[in-house]
This record gives sequence, C-alpha cells and structure tokens, in this order.
Amino acid sequence: MQQLTKNVFTETKIRGCNPSIVFTSEGSVFIDTAQWITTLLEMRKFAHEKGPIRYLINTEPHIDHIFGNHWFAGECPVIGHENLSKSFWKIPPAFNQTTYDYSVDIIKRQDPEGLKDMPSEKDYIVNTPQITFSDRMTLKVGDHTFCLYYAPGHSDANIIIHVPEERTAFVGDTIFNDCQIWLHSVMPDELFKTLDFLAGLDVDYIVPGHGPVCDKSAIYENKKFLYDWYGAVADGIAKGWTKEECVKNISFADRCPVDIGQADAMEYIQEHNVMMAYDYVMNKM
Ligand SMILES: [Zn+2]
Repeated sequence: MQQLTKNVFTETKIRGCNPSIVFTSEGSVFIDTAQWITTLLEMRKFAHEKGPIRYLINTEPHIDHIFGNHWFAGECPVIGHENLSKSFWKIPPAFNQTTYDYSVDIIKRQDPEGLKDMPSEKDYIVNTPQITFSDRMTLKVGDHTFCLYYAPGHSDANIIIHVPEERTAFVGDTIFNDCQIWLHSVMPDELFKTLDFLAGLDVDYIVPGHGPVCDKSAIYENKKFLYDWYGAVADGIAKGWTKEECVKNISFADRCPVDIGQADAMEYIQEHNVMMAYDYVMNKM
C-alpha cells in the first residue's frame, strides 16, 4: 500500500481498481474494495488496527470496484450513487460467465491464496449501497469532510470523492492513468463535462480508477486519449468504413498497456472501444 498523505493510503499495484483508505479522528473510510481477496483482507486488518471502519464508498458499479463489498457487510454502511444498484454485480454479456464464476476464476488464477476465503455462491452477499444520493452529498467523519459529487461519464453511476483536508480526489474510472481506457459503458458528452468539473477541484492528488496516483495533468492526458479514439473512428467513417472495418483497422493497443492483471482484455477493449465510438460518432452526424 502506498501512503499518499498523512491519512490517505491506496493500493495501485493489484488487479482491478485502486482501493483506498482515509483515516479520520473517528475511524476509517474505505473507497472501493480490492478484487484480490488477500489484499482486501490485509487492508481491512490494517484499518482495524487503527480503529473502526465507518463507511465504504463505491465510486462506480463495475465489478473490480465492488467485488469486495461482501466483506464489509455488517461492518459498515455502503454509500454510492442512486444508479449504482442498477448495474451492480453485472458483467458484460460478452464475458460469457456468471459474475460469481468470473470472480472465482480471477481469484484462482491471480490470488490463489485468497481462494480459501471466497464464500460459496449462496453465501456471497451482493452488498449494494444502503445510503445513496443523486447529485451531491457531504459526509463528515471526525475531522474529515467527504464531498461526494455525481460524476457521470464512465458509467451512469460514477462519483468523485473530494477530501479537502487531504487535498485529494478519488475519481474511479473517470481517469485511467498510463493505461488503456475502457469505453464500454461510456457516455462521452457527460465524461468530458465531468473531466472539466474535476479540473476545477483544488487538489494535489488524484487517485484514478486504474494506474498510478497522478495530478491534474492526467485530466488532459485522458481527454487527449478520448479525442484520439473518437477522431480515429470519425476519420474511418469519413473514408466510408463500416463498423466492422473500423474495428479491423483501428487500434490503440500500442499506446499503453492494460492495467495490471488484465492484459488478456486488450483485444476486447480495442474492439468495444471502436464499436462504442462508432455508435457515438454516427449518432452525432
Ligand atoms: Zn469502471
């Protein structure tokens, strides 16, 4: 785990999201949960040693952010956007697996030591938020303030958590730093607006959904990558390419890797990003 500021810890070196902990004078607040059970249990133990866990906040519904919610059931309330439950514990149909089997498969391959702590399907608790909000919410825990903002774009349930006392924003997959951007659930117009909103926050640190911790320069890099995707597909359409031809001819696989442990998703990302960008550009014409 990386200690980012006096009270913020984050884990960016595992598969999946970057789960984080903020320690306050009245217990800790978790932001997202690790997809590797061993890491998740280590983080939980680390937090327990310093006091109670007060809340778990999810930045978005994708499985790599919410898989570990099971281990917080009965421990603390979960907070998230009101849209979170709609797509919670669901994976893209193209994965051709149940969400449970998909999760077990990852643990078997990448976190075998965690397998003994994986509950049976019947015992796994799909721990959706008990506390939800629509536009914004302010949570005071001890000496810390958690400003929660609806931040649609990457999905329709994304939020940004700004903790001014730590000059840090936890942004989920609104930012992918130094790794491939997934467009499979993106609403581009909303995402650009959210990136502009993020640029207005007074922070030194951005904890992205994937990749190393960054600063606000990552906002520009993400916008550039997004423009490159939509631009390449628009150029293809201008040449008269069909969606299939765009998929065949356009790829940004050489630009950067997929985040840790997900190299096998590169082809899926390239194909689906082109398809999503194609539909977006065609809708605008
Ligand atoms: Zn995501």
